[in-house]
Amino acid sequence: MNKWLCFFLLSIVLISCHSIQRVRTDFNTIPFYVWTRGFHNPSTEELQAKFFDLKNKGIDGIIYSAGKDPIRYELAGNIAKKFGLKFYALLPALIQYKEAGLKKESYVVNGLGDSAYDKPAYPRNHFICPNRPEVYNYLVEIYGKLLDIPTVDGIQLDVIRFPDVILAPALWKKYNVVMDKEYPQYDYCYCDKCVTDFKTISGINIREIDNPSGVEAWKQFRYDLITNLVNRLAEMAYAKNKKINAAVFPGPHSIAKKIVRQEWHKWKIDAFFPMNYNDFYLEDTNWIGDMCRESVRATNKKKPIYSGLFICPNPENKANELDPENFGLLPEELAAGINASIKNGAKGICLFTAGRMTPAHWAVLTKLLKKENND
Ligand SMILES: [Zn+2]
Repeated sequence: MNKWLCFFLLSIVLISCHSIQRVRTDFNTIPFYVWTRGFHNPSTEELQAKFFDLKNKGIDGIIYSAGKDPIRYELAGNIAKKFGLKFYALLPALIQYKEAGLKKESYVVNGLGDSAYDKPAYPRNHFICPNRPEVYNYLVEIYGKLLDIPTVDGIQLDVIRFPDVILAPALWKKYNVVMDKEYPQYDYCYCDKCVTDFKTISGINIREIDNPSGVEAWKQFRYDLITNLVNRLAEMAYAKNKKINAAVFPGPHSIAKKIVRQEWHKWKIDAFFPMNYNDFYLEDTNWIGDMCRESVRATNKKKPIYSGLFICPNPENKANELDPENFGLLPEELAAGINASIKNGAKGICLFTAGRMTPAHWAVLTKLLKKENND
């Protein structure tokens, strides 16, 4: 054979091998996380069996939610570390029930003057105001205790947002609403402190404005309240040499800012876990890719994005389900959701939740990992 032809063919083979190797390596280094719960106070044996199983299935990290008692996180954290798993404690920030002991003044107030303390816009949505000093102090106390546990790698902030001023479309039927624009009963926070502080910086008394939604500075004021709170919590976590990340709404620009006032690309934390729950937005797996691309761009590729995927717990019943909380990716959609995320720049995947994953979902994940390992 002509030596130049030989060289040409060899180059093609080498380039092809390199491409295959690169794809394989990339996939193998993708971190897979799961959200999981321990509210029923599981025993050591139960947690050991569960975490061992998750590790064997290819899971690299646990985002663990079990209420506020640090002892529960210490037990689970110790076991997670035994199996070489990353371990983050997850707690809601700005929804707090009466047991938290906060006064009514600490709760957000809507555009009609109703407090979320006793008259929330949606059931159980008892949101507290991010602008209140006592709210920050309370969050420092509860998150600080979890960060002090040696086997807790860090915290994940959950419900670090305003109540949904616009609900995701799939929830309109559930709550019997049509949210074509912002309505005052879902629009927060008009508490005395927020109104006074906004007047001080803008000169505008927002209570006297007919259409507050049209005042961009008022929106920005509320984005900044969340951003400042997050950044102060981050300083607290970093002072303890721990990590801090957050479960956020998709976007941020197309959804999170508009519906829950999270301008999250400005938050000074380690990573973001956008809840790319496509069924809530009546979208397919391509949309998951679009959201990841937006998130990566918004953070200038400087912060890792872990794409949160919503798993359908009863695939055979999905077509008959009325409650969107029971929707989610079917086993046959899971690989497409993962691939769309990674192709569009997500650093990893987080599954909601470990408990919603059926044997068929796990089989898809195992096949995906094995395929990449063995091809
Ligand atoms: Zn307020």
